[in-house]
Amino acid sequence: MARTVFLRGKEEIEAIRAAAMLVARTLGRLGSEVRPGVTTATLDQLAEAFIRDHGGRPAFKGYRGFPASICASINDEVVHGIPGPRRLAEGDIVGIDVGVEMDGFYGDSAITFPVGRVSDEATRLLQVTREALARGVAQAKAGNRVGDISHAVQSYVEGQGFAVVRSLVGHGIGRQMHEEPQVPNYGTPERGPRLMAGQVVAIEPMVNAGVPEVMTQPDGWTVVTKDGRLSAHFEHTVAVGQEGPDILSRVDAP
Ligand code: MG
Ligand code: MG
Repeated sequence: MARTVFLRGKEEIEAIRAAAMLVARTLGRLGSEVRPGVTTATLDQLAEAFIRDHGGRPAFKGYRGFPASICASINDEVVHGIPGPRRLAEGDIVGIDVGVEMDGFYGDSAITFPVGRVSDEATRLLQVTREALARGVAQAKAGNRVGDISHAVQSYVEGQGFAVVRSLVGHGIGRQMHEEPQVPNYGTPERGPRLMAGQVVAIEPMVNAGVPEVMTQPDGWTVVTKDGRLSAHFEHTVAVGQEGPDILSRVDAP
């Protein structure tokens, strides 16, 4: 298989930004609906309508047979949860992952939301995972290597007493949802593929409160923690710049 890393020109970056900003707006819309009693199927229907109303296509729907427009992963579910009749309950955390294709370009972003009041551990897990993403993103500049992103995420998370998931990784993104290179959440500084200006990557720490090991449920999709403890996931689509990162999946982007 060809291992091609694509460098995008200005117009292509703006096309990816348009898709990624629709992802960000969708997440914002869903965030205002997250509350006890809401089903994840309702969130999925809202997301699909919102994405289509704004000229996009939900990229996850039908991807390798995935049946929905969002992934909704509750508590010990790490990623790839299938929306359904389960109602969110006070104290849950729910990771919502959204992908959009628009005009042939892809955006991908995720946020884990607290449902009502959550435990101190859940609050800290969300803070640490969000900060791990910020630290990974900060390394997305030309001349660095993928290992600089990976190490920034891993060293921060482990320093806070949590664990990074190793069997699932971030990825290049652009004309396809998943492109080269892989962007692991663990690694060694100054190792791995060189980052170049114009590269676009999805950086997505998945952080477990307990052990790093995960397993897939019999539905073939839902990834859960092996010890049943909480997991959180945050993700941004980011263009690697000469001077630093350009977060494309942000509503306040230019
Ligand atoms: Mg995603
Ligand atoms: Mg992704």
